[in-house]
Amino acid sequence: MKYDFLIVGSGLFGATFAYKAKKAGKSCLVIDKRPHLGGNVYCENIEGINVHKYGAHIFHTSNKEVWDFVNSIVKFNRYTNCPMANYKDKLYNLPFNMNTFYQMWGVTTPEQAQAKIEEQKAEAIASLNGKELSNLEEQALTLVGKDIFEKLIKDYTEKQWGRSCKDLPAFIIKRLPVRFVFDNNYFNDTYQGIPIGGYNKLIDGLLDGIECKTNLDFFNSEYIDWQKFADSLVYTGAIDEYFGNSLGKLDWRTVSFKTRVESIPNYQGNAVVNYTSHEQPYTRVIEHKHFEMFGQAVYECQKTVVSEEYSLEYKEGLEPYYPVNNDRNNILAEQYRKLAEQEKNVIFGGRLAEYKYYDMAPIIETVLSLTNQLFDK
Ligand code: FAD
Ligand code: UDP
Repeated sequence: MKYDFLIVGSGLFGATFAYKAKKAGKSCLVIDKRPHLGGNVYCENIEGINVHKYGAHIFHTSNKEVWDFVNSIVKFNRYTNCPMANYKDKLYNLPFNMNTFYQMWGVTTPEQAQAKIEEQKAEAIASLNGKELSNLEEQALTLVGKDIFEKLIKDYTEKQWGRSCKDLPAFIIKRLPVRFVFDNNYFNDTYQGIPIGGYNKLIDGLLDGIECKTNLDFFNSEYIDWQKFADSLVYTGAIDEYFGNSLGKLDWRTVSFKTRVESIPNYQGNAVVNYTSHEQPYTRVIEHKHFEMFGQAVYECQKTVVSEEYSLEYKEGLEPYYPVNNDRNNILAEQYRKLAEQEKNVIFGGRLAEYKYYDMAPIIETVLSLTNQLFDK
């Protein structure tokens, strides 16, 4: 039998595509080289806790269609991301808001906080001597001043990117909101949460009734001759690999996790704590149970699982995580995209095939609009 679609990769792109194709009456085979389905949102159950194996994932969106779609597969809980920062054993709320300013300077009103930031910004602007902003350090100093930069940005950013803030582009820091209200919600989106029962429920719901094979690398399997098996290919692996790295390899940044079980019910009182000084080599510590257990439920589960997250330069054999958006890679990725356009009956999609940092909701938005077009809603 020939399938309508062979789908390489069972992450959110592949799984959502398969779900929509099945709804439209198409047949699909999904293959993945990992031993499990779900790509980066996959969770491993340890001590009754869903552990985000490939990094903490918080679903957030303002797109009602996307929110309704994922909730039609599995209901989402009320988790709201309010990370804390630990700098040399002092705790600060993130993102930068009135709580942070109180903790930093003891100021209690927005007017006092604004005055403090303005004073520090003025110093930073003066030291520029009329020169244009050229890097992340200058951007941060002129946005929030030196106290916040030194305690909450500088070391964390250097650990995350492995480079000095003077050598990083300014745009990275523009994503961080600055608020003169007491609001610790990290995201500005209308909707956010975690699937009740974990992300595997979302993936299982999307792939329900669809044939899937794991531990199967497209390039080392009979499916490399996909035309024998399917009319079309949906490819969500790395774009350079598809073309045999013929134009050169794309660079990635990666993360690694040290995960351990603690025999106490509550380790750090929050899902995410960022470590913003060089005293710790890791960037953050995730306590997974807080994504899905609230109030008394935290104590009903006697143990807890924590992961230290380390940011690393990508090497062969590690998972590729974040695209490196410098000139070399942007140009190379564009050349590969041109080659991809010429491939007949192949859809390239997702973070690896598009070489693009994508949050989960935009992935789903892209697939919904693509499948609406393809299957003529
Ligand atoms: P993936 O999930 O990577 O799926 C691709 C799949 O293809 C993988 O399973 C892989 O094994 C498979 N594959 C690749 N090559 C082959 C091959 N040759 N043969 C067979 N299979 C192959 N987004 C948010 O919205 N909120 C967050 O809080 C958030 N946190 C994140 C934290 C980290 C550390 C990272 C890295 C990402 C985070 N994201 C977050 C982004 C989110 O992970 C992505 O949007 C989503 O996983 C992309 O889905 P995808 O299907 O494109 O890729
Ligand atoms: N950042 C920081 N201190 C923090 C958190 C973030 O300086 O405690 C900076 C850092 O440069 C990071 C950027 O803000 O790269 C974006 O952070 P965000 O958490 O939005 O990115 P993510 O980790 O989700 O990729």
